[in-house]
Amino acid sequence: GAGKQNSLMSRIIAVFNQAGGVAKTTLTQNLGYQLAQLGHRVLLIDIDPQASLTIFMGLVPRQLEQTVHNAIVEEQPLPIVEKIHGMDLAPANISLSTAEMQLVNASMRDFRLKEAIEPIQEDYDFILIDCPPSLGLLSYISLVAATHVLVPLETHFKAFEGTGELLKTVATVRNKPNRKLQIAGFVPTKYDARNSQDTRTLAAITEQLAGAGTVFAPIPRSTAFVDASEERMPLAVYEPKHPSVQILKKIAVSLESLQ
Ligand code: ADP
Ligand code: MG
Repeated sequence: GAGKQNSLMSRIIAVFNQAGGVAKTTLTQNLGYQLAQLGHRVLLIDIDPQASLTIFMGLVPRQLEQTVHNAIVEEQPLPIVEKIHGMDLAPANISLSTAEMQLVNASMRDFRLKEAIEPIQEDYDFILIDCPPSLGLLSYISLVAATHVLVPLETHFKAFEGTGELLKTVATVRNKPNRKLQIAGFVPTKYDARNSQDTRTLAAITEQLAGAGTVFAPIPRSTAFVDASEERMPLAVYEPKHPSVQILKKIAVSLESLQ
């Protein structure tokens, strides 16, 4: 991996889609792992009150005293749990569900996550933000803090349902608070090559979104992902020879060339 040698600015990638269950959290954890394996210093940020990433990484959310909530609401340093499968994690728990209300009248609230990241940004080559399934403030401040946005999409007929709103939100953020935000690409997920609806939707995704950003190779549907997360492991740790590990690695390698 490039590691420190060609020390570019750290890339901050928001994994974003307002739909739930499209594999945002799964991708965040697994791409983070692959990037760490490539020699990069990786921080994962869980900004979803449901705290799935925190759980997938083996922590117990309700036992945490400090979470991303403290950083964005109280402007405390981002709490970081070090070295879980080679990655660092800023964890979440349900306390984040009140952040939106607490920040209603806060000054410069759109920049709260960006400001929390700034002091530690140099310590990492890649910072991946696992967004909640909504277009609310927590996703918004993630896009404001990010250099790139990566969009997972399920390969069924609902894939396009919210894509218009999603791209509009990215455009809104680009228009003002974060002009430099770039689309890193789209990752079709939970793909079943034997299902004609999936193959048709994948073709449509590739055709319709190619103009907006790279459409990566699809990640096949496999219960191994569910099993790995239940074991609190990245897929590559749980089942190193699983074919999707190579697909994830390829995506991670292309993220290395983001500027
Ligand atoms: P999101 O963060 O978008 O809500 P998750 O990453 O939590 O989605 O994934 C939702 C569920 O789908 C989880 O149980 C996860 O293990 C499972 N999952 C993720 N990727 C795959 C896949 N490629 N095949 C099958 N199940 C998957
Ligand atoms: Mg999630």
